Amino acid sequence: MPHQQTDDARSVFVTGLKNAHAMEKQALAMVGPQLKRIENYPEVRERLEQHAAETEGQVSRLETILDQLGEQPSTFKDTVLSAVGGMAALGHAPAGDEILKNSFANFAFENYEIAAYNSLIILAEAAGETEAVEVLQQNLSEEQNMASWLESNLASVTAQYVARREMGETAKH
Ligand code: MG
Ligand code: FE
Repeated sequence: MPHQQTDDARSVFVTGLKNAHAMEKQALAMVGPQLKRIENYPEVRERLEQHAAETEGQVSRLETILDQLGEQPSTFKDTVLSAVGGMAALGHAPAGDEILKNSFANFAFENYEIAAYNSLIILAEAAGETEAVEVLQQNLSEEQNMASWLESNLASVTAQYVARREMGETAKH
């Protein structure tokens, strides 16, 4: 029975790691199109670029943990969630207010990641993978920093958006 419990905890943890890996692929698929299109919000661009680099590092950390467990990422989950991420970003592209919609979506996504890592850390503890806990906490703290940056920057982005719209209106007259 104790062996059974350990096996179950390990397998639930491994599934959680694969899901997190796919989630990070989704994150990269969402940010790519945003970085391609963003022109007028340099501070957002800079923070997105920084977090995209962090996200690459998060993927590597997850791959290292999986590798140490003798497991590998799920190609299927990675592919499906990359497609979802690309579509989410694309869905906002035609609208003039895509900077706002992407700001909402990015904030929502960071909070999703925070919940995912909080849960995954519990799974790591349950599986007795204490070294993995520390590594996952690094990912978690990057998501928390990004979420709070997005939250505190929303007022500024919104004000800039309004100002740009007003300038555009004025220029027409
Ligand atoms: Mg992430
Ligand atoms: Fe993130």
